[in-house]
Amino acid sequence: GYREQLDAALRFLREGDDYLVVSHVQPDGDAISSTVIIGWLLGKLGKRYVLANEDEVPGRLRFLPLTGSIVQLPDTDHARRYARVVSVDCADFRRIGTVSQSFADGVQLLNIDHHPTNDQFGAVNVVRTNAAATAEILYDLIAHAGLALDMQVAEPLYVGLLTDTGGFRYANTSAHVLRIAAELIGHGVSGSAIAERMLEMMTMPQLQLLQRGLSRLQFTAGGRIGWLYIEHSDLAQTGAAGEDLEGLVNYARNVEGVEVGILFKGAADGGIKVSMRSAGKVDVAAIAQRFGGGGHTRAAGCRLECSLTEASARVLAAISEVLPS
Ligand code: 5GP
Ligand code: MN
Ligand code: MN
Repeated sequence: GYREQLDAALRFLREGDDYLVVSHVQPDGDAISSTVIIGWLLGKLGKRYVLANEDEVPGRLRFLPLTGSIVQLPDTDHARRYARVVSVDCADFRRIGTVSQSFADGVQLLNIDHHPTNDQFGAVNVVRTNAAATAEILYDLIAHAGLALDMQVAEPLYVGLLTDTGGFRYANTSAHVLRIAAELIGHGVSGSAIAERMLEMMTMPQLQLLQRGLSRLQFTAGGRIGWLYIEHSDLAQTGAAGEDLEGLVNYARNVEGVEVGILFKGAADGGIKVSMRSAGKVDVAAIAQRFGGGGHTRAAGCRLECSLTEASARVLAAISEVLPS
């Protein structure tokens, strides 16, 4: 049961002296929030810890406590290897990226996540697929540990919930999520200031990417698939970072009649990163898994090692096959 999983997680966090906390590459709001929440929790338990990610913390998340201490690993100057690792918001080991080069042989992993495609890669696993965000599970973990909330942890908890529910709009916005959010606002979190920063505010490069993306938006399968692409050169030309692509796929998905929206992103090494969003009838996690990726039924992703033309042909064909008639 869930209580036993939370017990096992707390035991894991209490047993050691020293931990590495990691999340997925190209971290989103839930990934960064969950990383710093575990940092806060380890601090309360009197443990030493290092917070790490393969990629930089997105600018709009840097206001959160402890994000300044998230390091990028592997760091060529530090040959240190970590024997106890907490992984948050990662569906599988590969999502941790190159940070895993800093793990010791025989590393002990605690895997806390909410993706249905999670493959239980930890020695201890707390995988709750009906949780809206990993941050929701961490709220339960903190309560289970009997620790009182403060602003340091209330803000990242709120950001994790807000971002993974698309601003409390997606189907995963449960009564439990809203009750937690209400409690966090009661602790002094400013819902409006965080929504402004996380959801409303656009950077100029982000707007320029949006202009390019929308100019290429096309529809197929009788208007039931909407798709667009961003080439790697678009990032340099607009001054955008990977994080500026977040939300772009929704413009394809949100068009009336569209069942699946897709964004193809050219990667630096020539591969293609695919983001898929479903209006509800198509399980895009299943499509993503066919290409070695994963995610949630309504939001999933994968990577293809081929040209944009080939990637779009293969993914569009796979989705057309499963579109309801
Ligand atoms: P996004 O399209 O925003 O990158 O990702 C949407 C969802 O799919 C997220 O929950 C993310 O964790 C998952 N996802 C995206 N790319 C991959 C991937 O390459 N592998 C796996 N396993 N999950 C992915
Ligand atoms: Mn995530
Ligand atoms: Mn998440």
